Amino acid sequence: MAQRLFFAKCTLRNALNAAKGERYSLQIVHKRWLNLQEYQSKQLMRDNHITVQRFQVVDSVEEAKQLVDNRAFDFAEYVIKAQVLAGGRGKGHFLRSGMKSGVQLTKDKQMVAEITSKMLNDYLVTAQTTKEGVLVKKVMVAEALDIRKELYIAILLDRSSGGPVIVTSRDGGMNIEDVAKTNPESINKFLVPVDDEELDVELAQEIAEKGLGFTESKLIAKAAKEIRNLYKLFLRIDATQIEINPLGVTPNDDIVCFDAKIQFDENAEFRQKWIAQIEQENAETNDPREALAKEYNLNFVPMDGNIGCLVNGAGLAMATMDIIHHYGGSPANFLDVGGGVNQKGVENAFKLLTQDTKVKAILVNIFGGIVNCETVARGLIAAINLVNVPLIVRLEGTNQEAAKELLSKIPSIITADNLDDAAQKAVKMASSM
Ligand code: GDP
Ligand code: MG
Repeated sequence: MAQRLFFAKCTLRNALNAAKGERYSLQIVHKRWLNLQEYQSKQLMRDNHITVQRFQVVDSVEEAKQLVDNRAFDFAEYVIKAQVLAGGRGKGHFLRSGMKSGVQLTKDKQMVAEITSKMLNDYLVTAQTTKEGVLVKKVMVAEALDIRKELYIAILLDRSSGGPVIVTSRDGGMNIEDVAKTNPESINKFLVPVDDEELDVELAQEIAEKGLGFTESKLIAKAAKEIRNLYKLFLRIDATQIEINPLGVTPNDDIVCFDAKIQFDENAEFRQKWIAQIEQENAETNDPREALAKEYNLNFVPMDGNIGCLVNGAGLAMATMDIIHHYGGSPANFLDVGGGVNQKGVENAFKLLTQDTKVKAILVNIFGGIVNCETVARGLIAAINLVNVPLIVRLEGTNQEAAKELLSKIPSIITADNLDDAAQKAVKMASSM
């Protein structure tokens, strides 16, 4: 079960980083999957009859002050949550203010603005971000509710069963990959017949009972209704994943989605017009290099190491990162220029790589099939003035001789005969810088 679950949830980016114990989400490597922020997910859920707390999003301290002064937003307790595209916020910390946790509870109205001020424009570091953290531009202020039980539920597309699955766990509020390792018995997986236009009531009740552990008929019915509405939303918006962690039970026996992560299939953008708005909102909060990469049509993921990689194809990118690790180095990024890259694309890729001051060497690994090595070489030469660290190049495939001839005229470029040689040179150069 644990292994199957892993694969169900496994993303390219997770796979890339599993060996390093890091966890990222897929959407940046695979641009066709888009992650929504919590508040965006919850807006959709609220509009689709799924139970979430009352909440508002603010992007200034002033707004937070006004919000809690509003009588319609007067609660006994508030929860204040940093809005970033990364999980594990509760266990995170802020880089500048030093405040612990991106999820704060307070019964004191005055503290809402104060906590908001410590989150906004600070960087939240969590187990799912880099050490630099993610800039917080928006904060959610919500009515806090007591939770007597935390559960987990996710609906996702599962490659192995060729359709949607619903994954549940009785250990909510914890990272599901950790639960899969430490307590796999608490995880259950339910296949949903792919042609069903809605979730069958009996299946929803079975999930509530066997998956989530509800025993009272009133609660089973409540949970089943919530699950069916979640499934309806999943289909309606062409989601690839809806993860609720935790799904909480309050002392009054309300079943509430306390946290939500929705991933959406960008291939369906043509019939999901609302997504353009979300993309625009998220562009402000993403790493600016990621926005630039999108503009340049490059697959780019920033990482913690010091070797900048420029590669064509996701498979080759992974192999390159593996071999860098193998020789004791550490990649600064994952950058795939894709199959159809032209000279301008290579230049743009260099603009991205050279913005990162951590980069101590750049490794270019191109296997030219559709890509013409000579085109890549011309792009490299056009961008050479931007590069002030050792540049190691392995170009193989179509027109490689012409490419090598061009590169040999640039003394600062270090050419390599094969990937092994290139990786060893890059690791050595980066560590001596
Ligand atoms: P994450 O750390 O990014 O997954 O953020 P969550 O929204 O899941 O919040 C982390 C934890 O904070 C949850 O697992 C809950 O234990 C707790 N939490 C969040 N909202 C509330 C709330 O309204 N009331 C209470 N009592 N705890 C909450
Ligand atoms: Mg959570």
